Amino acid sequence: MPSPGELIFESPKKGKPPVHFLDLSVPERKEAITALGLSGFRADQISRHVFENLDTNIADWTDIPESAKQQVQSELFPHLLDPVRSIECDNGETVKTLWRLHDSSLVESVLMRYPSRVTICISSQAGCGMNCPFCATGQAGLTRNLSAAEIFGQVLAGAQSLARNEIAGGPGRVSNIVFMGMGEPLANYKAVMGAIHRIVDPSPSGLGMSARGVTVSTVGLVPRIKQLATEGLPLTLAVSLHAPDNELRDTLVPINTRWSVEEVLDAAWEYADVTKRRVSIEYALIKDINDQPERAKLLAQRIKGQLVHVNLIPLNPTPGSKWTASRPEDERNFVRILERAGIQVTVRDTRGSEIDGACGQLAALD
Ligand code: SAH
Repeated sequence: MPSPGELIFESPKKGKPPVHFLDLSVPERKEAITALGLSGFRADQISRHVFENLDTNIADWTDIPESAKQQVQSELFPHLLDPVRSIECDNGETVKTLWRLHDSSLVESVLMRYPSRVTICISSQAGCGMNCPFCATGQAGLTRNLSAAEIFGQVLAGAQSLARNEIAGGPGRVSNIVFMGMGEPLANYKAVMGAIHRIVDPSPSGLGMSARGVTVSTVGLVPRIKQLATEGLPLTLAVSLHAPDNELRDTLVPINTRWSVEEVLDAAWEYADVTKRRVSIEYALIKDINDQPERAKLLAQRIKGQLVHVNLIPLNPTPGSKWTASRPEDERNFVRILERAGIQVTVRDTRGSEIDGACGQLAALD
């Protein structure tokens, strides 16, 4: 029998993945390549295969000597993400993939194709330690942080599928990345920033996507929001508020007992001020819990006049949850109150809900 103290530790099987080329910055790649006894310029050649051609099949790299390939594969391209299964809906334009990691942890990503964009929703942790009671991922607790390569690998896999014409709607490119899969991205800051650099840095350092198209969604880890503002990247920040008052938010987003609504919103305004980016406030509408007109008014009062936009998410009920989405009339009323206060509001579509791939439904049950 383990003692109660032991129970809080992760099982020894759950561990850090091996270092991968995708974890590395440009100077680190050169160092890793020369450490294998190869010329430094090979790092640049390999980067171009990966980030310009989305080609991670080493056998295809005709400019890399055959004699070096096996070593590059085993030392720098270990296998990190194994697709367990993919489930589709919306005529194949929404695809949820379940990935098994090297230590058999499971994570999910969701690709969503819209007429004018393709969004990939990615995971930053296996499980999550934030314990929000309405979120499926929160129920199982945190298994471990993902590495930068495990996070970026989800983006690369989606980009490769699109380029190979494997997604309904023809060949395409990823335009938006949202850190709204499993995990709290700002609780895994370093790896998340590594993955973001691979996404936005110009080729051959990264994919060269627009930072504006990358959304980091957080429960509100205030020191990390402040840090994110200093990165010099116009990333979109989304704050999962879900309640305008501390009493309710303490129960819906338990980390609120550490950083209050006031502190989280102040950090969000500071982020908007420094980056000039409009902050998104995420608010899952839960029937009779946080959808009353008084709460809409209080929310409006607290965010009015700021560079902000409210994204209302009809609650996606999770298995066994006592909560459900708001009544349509309450949702409409909530929207109206915010709009009358001059606040921009959208109601998020619930893409993927029938394949348990919508926000908060990712639980990676195999
Ligand atoms: N940990 C981060 C990102 C993960 S989830 C965060 O909390 O922001 C992305 C968004 O989905 C968050 O706003 C989260 O609160 C919301 N969400 C979680 N469970 C949900 C559910 N069951 N229905 C609707 N939205 C949910």
